[in-house]
Amino acid sequence: MQIASKELSAVEMVKTALEKAKAAQEKYSVFISLNKEAALKRAAEIDGKIKNGENPGRLAGVPYALKDNFLSKDGNTTAASKILEPMKSPITATSVKKLEDEGAIMIGRTNLDAFAHGSSTENSYFGPTKNSKDAARVAGGSSGGSAVAVALDIVQFATGTDTGGSIRQPASFNGVYGFKPTYGTISRYGVVAMASSTDCVGFFANSAEDIDLLMSITAGQDPYDMTTLPDYYGADFTRGDALRGPAGPEPQASGSDGRYNATAPWDAEGRRPTGPRKIGVIKDFDIKGDIKDALDKKIKDLKSKGYEIVELEMPTLKYALAVYYIVVPAEISSNLSRYDGIRYAYRNSSAKSLDEVYGKSRSDGFMPENKRRIMIGNFVLSSGFYDAYYLKAQKARTLIIKEYEEAFKKCDFILSPVTPNPAFKLGEKTDDPVSMYLEDVMSVPINLAGLPSLAFPVGETKDGLSLGLQLIGPRRSDKALLDFAGKELK
Ligand code: GLN
Repeated sequence: MQIASKELSAVEMVKTALEKAKAAQEKYSVFISLNKEAALKRAAEIDGKIKNGENPGRLAGVPYALKDNFLSKDGNTTAASKILEPMKSPITATSVKKLEDEGAIMIGRTNLDAFAHGSSTENSYFGPTKNSKDAARVAGGSSGGSAVAVALDIVQFATGTDTGGSIRQPASFNGVYGFKPTYGTISRYGVVAMASSTDCVGFFANSAEDIDLLMSITAGQDPYDMTTLPDYYGADFTRGDALRGPAGPEPQASGSDGRYNATAPWDAEGRRPTGPRKIGVIKDFDIKGDIKDALDKKIKDLKSKGYEIVELEMPTLKYALAVYYIVVPAEISSNLSRYDGIRYAYRNSSAKSLDEVYGKSRSDGFMPENKRRIMIGNFVLSSGFYDAYYLKAQKARTLIIKEYEEAFKKCDFILSPVTPNPAFKLGEKTDDPVSMYLEDVMSVPINLAGLPSLAFPVGETKDGLSLGLQLIGPRRSDKALLDFAGKELK
């Protein structure tokens, strides 16, 4: 991460980022709003600190982009929707506050699928963001703007949220790193809720090392988010079982069982000195073409470095997509019920009765995909169908969680594609929601199980489209996973 110093002022860094943001906007539609005045003011404050010899923070003057579903007192938080377009937040998200306390400077709010519902950023009320490698293709979603902001080198990092793949998929469509932490690692206080049992805050950046730094700043328990885990990120583990962490189940000694020892120092060749290290590959996914070639190449590379590849049979993963598209809409229908035209932002001004205020405001304010999910959610939760859909999906979810637990007894990390194909064309899937949902088949199982996963770039197709893979770890292995990726996956 390039931070401000006596030689490179924060004001210069912010000005450059704002210029790049403006220049890219017309072609790529990356931002919903820019934060020019406040950003320049903060940059001048950081430069003042540097001049006076005060500590300017670990992210001093680093311009960053904020996905527009994070609350902050700077600007409006629209969640890319009409219903929240006029939304001025009275609070700042915990994660945003932690970044800014270390001197990071938000230069703009990035585009997304409205309320983060989607895989292409085409569901935005403000129109789609375009892919950084080919503007006729989608940026991916829902955090499309954040991925493109990093890919075009406008900012050094951007925030995202990942409920079913919204960080990893756009990261791999644009050739950058994208990390979804273990569920509960970063506070979600001040983030517009989508599906509360899978929502995660995470980051886009240019390396695993940069993401590690961002994690060390933002991870941690927050009294305002009761799902946050007791602090574990970067904790000093003495038993050598950092993959599971001190509070994790079944701690195991390293070495004897062949587990990757994340706390041992790297040897002269940059390897961990203990035992064989095992990387799992899932047999059940049907992978073809460029993505298969990229996966095979990475497997070969890891083998040549001395890693053992373990083939995993995970037959319940094929149910993950169906489970996700029942559980998540159920939670969405509940979370979105608060937007009633009264308590937040937009209200239809022609409404004459209370029912009309609710109905017309919601009808105008939500995008079609939001409405589709509200309807599916209410349907699967309704008394006649609850047992057949919602309850059954939750049972299947438990089986998926157990299947991962078994898999991680056989390997340290799992290597997998993020998506079946590289970025598709704009408009290609907008009329066919199921084909859009199928994009998420390899990303959603990880969210259902609450696992950490890093999407990392692995080159391009012959047409210049980005290719990415993901590395998945057990719960709380976040630090070890990023550490491993920084050393071995470049
Ligand atoms: N594409 C997935 C969906 O539409 C994931 C979205 C997300 O992670 N926010 O639900």
